[in-house]
Parts: sequence; C-alpha cells; structure tokens
Amino acid sequence: MSQLEDRFGRRFHYLRLSVTDVCNFKCGYCLPDGYQSSGKPSFLTLNEISHLVDAFAQVGTKKIRITGGEPSLRRDFTDIIRLVADNEKIQTVATTTNGDRLAKRAKAWHEAGLRKINVSVDSLDPRLFYQITGENKFYQVMKGIDAALEAGFDRVKVNAVLLKGINDRALPQFLNWIKKLPIDLRFIELMETGLGRDYFKQYHVAGREIKSWLQQQDWQLDPIHVDDGPAQNFSHPDYLGRIGLIMPYEKNFCVSCNRLRVSAKGKLHLCLFTENGIDLRDLLTSNSQQEALITRLHEQLETKKQTHFLHQGVTGVTQHLASIGG
Ligand code: SAM
Ligand code: SF4
Repeated sequence: MSQLEDRFGRRFHYLRLSVTDVCNFKCGYCLPDGYQSSGKPSFLTLNEISHLVDAFAQVGTKKIRITGGEPSLRRDFTDIIRLVADNEKIQTVATTTNGDRLAKRAKAWHEAGLRKINVSVDSLDPRLFYQITGENKFYQVMKGIDAALEAGFDRVKVNAVLLKGINDRALPQFLNWIKKLPIDLRFIELMETGLGRDYFKQYHVAGREIKSWLQQQDWQLDPIHVDDGPAQNFSHPDYLGRIGLIMPYEKNFCVSCNRLRVSAKGKLHLCLFTENGIDLRDLLTSNSQQEALITRLHEQLETKKQTHFLHQGVTGVTQHLASIGG
C-alpha cells in the first residue's frame, strides 16, 4: 500500500489522534473558562478508532500520539492505548497529558504499551502553575512524572508553553530541574487561536529569543534527524535532560512537517491551522470500508498546503487546541 505523501514530498509517519475534547484544566491559552459542553458529546468509539488506526498503519503511520482535550479522562483510555499498541505496524504509542491522573495510572498505561509520554508543566512554581492552569495540582502532576519514570518510561517529555512575564523569567529554574533528571523539556511558542487572540497579544514570546539565550548558556543544537519533525533540539554535557524548542512562527517550520491529525469527532486535519476538517467518520463503521478510507486519505493529502498562514493571523478553524489535539 503506498505511503502518505503530499505534493511537496513530505511523508506522514505520525498521527496525532484526539480522543476527547473534554478537559478538567483551564489553561489560559487553551480553555480559560474550562470545557464548555454543547450537548452530549459523541467522540470516536473504540471500534471506530480501531478502523482508523488500521487504515493509517497500512499507509505508513508508525507513531500515534493519543491526545485531546485530556485523553486520560476517557474511561477506556487504557484500552485505546492497548488497541494502538497491538497493531504490529505501529512502532510507537505516545500520549500528551496534563498529568492529573499520571501518578495513579502510569504503570497501567506502560503495561498497555504506551512508550512515550509528554506531560504539560508550564511552571515549577505551584502558585504560577495554578495561575496558568486554573488547577491547584502542581504537586499531583510532579508525583505523576516520578511515577512515570518509576513505571519504566526511560525519558519523560515536559511541555511548557512560553508566556511573556509569567514563565519566561523562570528558565534557569527549569534548567536546574533537568540537570540530573532524564527529562526532555519542550518549550512551545504560544500559538494564536481563534479564541486566544488577546491572550496571544499579551503573552507571546518569540522562540528565537529563547534559542539565543540557550546558546549563550552553551546549549548546543543537536544535528537534525529526518524524523525529528519541527522541534529544534539542544543538549548540554552537564545536563542529563535535553531541551526542544517548538517555534511555529519560524521560517521553514512547515518544511519538516511529518504529522497529520484526527479530531475526537473523526475529522482529518492536514494542519493545525486549516479552515476545515475532512470527515472520515462515515468510513469508520466497518472493515469493509478500509479501501475507501485509504483512498480518501490519499486524495486529501493532495490538497495539503505548503505552509500555514499564522504569520498573517490566519488561525483557521482552530478555536483552541483542545478541539483538535495540540
Ligand atoms: N490536555 C493535554 C495537555 O495539556 O498536555 C493534551 C492536550 S493539549 C491541547 C496539548 C499541548 O498543547 C499542551 O502541551 C498544551 O500546553 C499545548 N497548547 C495548548 N494550547 C496552546 C497554544 N495556544 N499555543 C501553544 N501550545 C498550546
Ligand atoms: Fe486542558 Fe491541555 Fe488545554 Fe490545558 S492545554 S486546558 S490541560 S487540553
């Protein structure tokens, strides 16, 4: 079966699969008023996820990140992990979580086949953590990271969205933390979303500034590997941890794009910031639809644009990242 490739020669081995829009945190840049339900949500079922994963695996997907909203709020989250891990063609099952349930569930998730975990921690100061996420759960999340390392995850990635005047002053504290811990810290440049325009104006910090600061502290840019995706990675001989910078506003950010997204309601998103998702759900009810599903994936990839238009403030349909999995 031919691999997913677009008109610009980019190959797509990596799927970010959202399994819910619901979240129990209220991060200022994402869901400042918390998750707002509009009727009974109808997210992809285990059966639909299974058909979707099979189809993507047949056209070259090797890594699937289960995300949301907060994916661990789904009661069948461990079953979803197992289902994806059981597919022989999928080499890596990853998730991104706010860490609330990690302390209790890290071991079970690892046993089900989860191998990579990203935990969002925007501040190491419990007071600021509360200010950013709306939840007083800093210590709970930190316990979760310890539990993940104990459960057998060889490294844990920690995502921190850079926020001007809030956590950008605390970089030395972050660095100090990863000196002796196998943590890959990923600083994410704040992205403008439909509902987050004012927040963006107030808090956006250019990733470039952080990059030059790191280089002044002798952090070295690692050689770029074809499968790395858009992160720029740095290491330092005195630190066990590493740093990744995600800078969506940098020139060439989209050149190395290797990922596709499917929302919790079964829409394919060719980019975080395109206008519309493409419905796949009508082709997820039975295995007999696999061929049609794969044909649709190939046809839609033909329409993928070379780059996003975030620089011009075009945020597409994305009201917040919880809706299509950041
Ligand atoms: N709830 C999980 C979590 O927070 O880790 C997974 C979903 S969340 C949408 C995925 C990632 O997107 C998180 O690391 C979050 O910090 C990041 N994110 C959300 N909104 C963002 C924005 N406007 N700009 C940059 N990153 C954002
Ligand atoms: Fe929830 Fe994650 Fe969005 Fe925070 S970033 S509100 S934890 S979905």
